[in-house]
Formats: sequence, C-alpha cells, structure tokens
Amino acid sequence: GNRTFTMIKPDAVENGHIGAILEKITAAGFKIVAMKYTQLSKRDAETFYAVHNERPFFGELVEFMTRGPIVAAILEKDNAVEDFRALIGATNPADAAEGTIRKLFASNVAENAVHGSDSDENAKIEGDFHFSGREVF
Ligand code: ATP
Repeated sequence: GNRTFTMIKPDAVENGHIGAILEKITAAGFKIVAMKYTQLSKRDAETFYAVHNERPFFGELVEFMTRGPIVAAILEKDNAVEDFRALIGATNPADAAEGTIRKLFASNVAENAVHGSDSDENAKIEGDFHFSGREVF
C-alpha cells in the first residue's frame, strides 16, 4: 500500500514539536494528503484503540490521548506503513534507533509522540475514522 495514517500525540503537541515532526516526515519522502488539528473525545479514543481494551494501560492510554489536541494526517509514499514505522522507531523511545522520531521527541513508552498504522488494512480504517472523502487529496 502507498498510504499510512499518523497522529502527533498530545505530548509532542504540548512540547512544541509539531513543526519539527512534520519536517522529519516530509524530509523522509512522505506527502501529506490529509491533515487536521483536533482533539479526541473519550469515545473517539476508546474506539480508535479498541484493540487494546483488555490491556492494563488502556485507561491511561485513553486519558493521555484525550488530554489535549493532536495532529491527524494521512501520508503517501511507496511502502508507506513499513517505512513510516521505521521512521518513528520502537514504541518505547528507550529502545528506538538514533534519529527516529520517537528517539528525538518521545518522553516514554506511554507518551511516545506519534502513532503510525501497523498494517495497510488499519491505515485505511484509521484514515477513514478521522477524515471524510472531501478532506483527502
Ligand atoms: P501506535 O499504535 O500508537 O503507533 P505502537 O504500535 O508502537 O503504537 P502499541 O503496542 O500498539 O504500540 O501501543 C499503542 C500505544 O499504547 C502506544 O503507542 C503507547 O502510547 C501506549 N502504550 C503501549 N505500551 C504501553 C505501556 N506499557 N504503558 C502505557 N502505555 C503504553
């Protein structure tokens, strides 16, 4: 697939990293085909992260993802899902490779600066969750 979905999470927005993260994304060859500045409701976050609802950190994750605004975007590039996961690095920034977005901008395993879809199927589901057809170019 040639598209993936990302969010710049509340921690990175609070810490003033929106511009630097978008610069890393575009410098890596991703084209932004949809983007918005928004805030998730509790129900939005519970729906988006439904696959994690049995995990011990689910309540903490919903609380974190709803505490402030985020940037949601759909990105286009060959091999988008895999290449974007490489660009952001491991879930825990302590394990993330040098130069990755999480290594540079994440605080910890929970507040890890960015989301990246883990499959083409989820990229489509997640993009459709956030954007209507007229908002995607
Ligand atoms: P994302 O889906 O956000 O791109 P990921 O696929 O790298 O992240 P997952 O294991 O799917 O990681 O976890 C989803 C999100 O839940 C993480 O990005 C992080 O914000 C949070 N999370 C993961 N593990 C923990 C943990 N042990 N404690 C608290 N929060 C966690």
